[in-house]
Amino acid sequence: MQEYDLIIIGGGSAGLSAAMYGTRLGLKTLTFAEMPGGLITTTHLVENWPGIKSISGPDLGMALYEHAISVGAEIKTEKATKVEKLDDCFYKVITGSGEYKAKTVLFATGTVHKRLGIPGEKEFENKGLSFCALCDGSFYKGKHVIIVGGGDSAVKEALFLTEHASKVTMIVRKDVLRAEPINIKLLESNSKIEVKYQTELMEILGTDRVNGVRFKNGDEMPVDGIFYAIGHNAQTDIAKELGVAVNEKSEIIVNRKAETNLHGVYAAGDCDDAGFKQAITGSAEGVTAAYYAYHTCNENACFNQK
Ligand code: NDP
Repeated sequence: MQEYDLIIIGGGSAGLSAAMYGTRLGLKTLTFAEMPGGLITTTHLVENWPGIKSISGPDLGMALYEHAISVGAEIKTEKATKVEKLDDCFYKVITGSGEYKAKTVLFATGTVHKRLGIPGEKEFENKGLSFCALCDGSFYKGKHVIIVGGGDSAVKEALFLTEHASKVTMIVRKDVLRAEPINIKLLESNSKIEVKYQTELMEILGTDRVNGVRFKNGDEMPVDGIFYAIGHNAQTDIAKELGVAVNEKSEIIVNRKAETNLHGVYAAGDCDDAGFKQAITGSAEGVTAAYYAYHTCNENACFNQK
């Protein structure tokens, strides 16, 4: 079994930043990244990354990946399926094709898109129901689409969709948007966007593709496409199986050193319990985790004897 100082599970902004930083610190680092760049690669524009006024999500994801590779980080596009405690000193990370020994492990496993669990949802996923405006927006040139959600992602995706669609209707369950004021201002001045407040979907309608929605009040609306931007759930199943402590939202509980309840196990980015989740804060948490993993590798009596 190949031995590593730090094995990182997840290749989003947190994981790739940790890979770059850990490798620069001299740690033998391996990252499992199913989708290098992670969630940020599905964002149209990132305009709050300090030092870069505006960059596309895919370009930022690629820059993080290339930076990590340029300093010698090893990245495999594989999914880690299980992490076990090997003995008093080491962990074992298992993938579909192998097993790896790690002095320290970082969970940077991010999130999965939330779903509403309504009729039609499973049936029409990828047949008019999408979770990524950047990926699928161009299929809706001159069409009417709706976007469900009232957070920052929903507002940014609505703005992006107006570059393609003729009309974008936002479906917001409360009477308020929870997005950055700068994005709300842009939305208010965009005549292609209509916001329907205090409105919730009850069913997705269609035949072979989406052709409409039914709301909870019984009204129906014809639509060509639906985008969900209703937030995310932390992806922490393999961490939980290992015995990592999580909060009531299944987010991994970390301290300011990105440490979990298990010695040598760290978490960073959207999968942890930080209250404020941004690509840049995930990146900083990844760097923090790599730094303290470096200390664990150097200071743990276990590794000094071996
Ligand atoms: P949020 O959790 O912020 O917003 C989710 C939205 O979906 C809310 O309006 C919420 O409504 C609504 N919603 C949730 N569940 C349902 C439901 N069952 N039915 C109807 N509506 C629902 O998610 P975002 O993806 O917008 O943002 C997640 C995090 O990512 C935030 O911290 C955000 O700041 C961050 N972000 C960072 C970016 C960056 O780094 N540049 C870019 C975009 C986002 P309600 O308000 O009623 O709860």
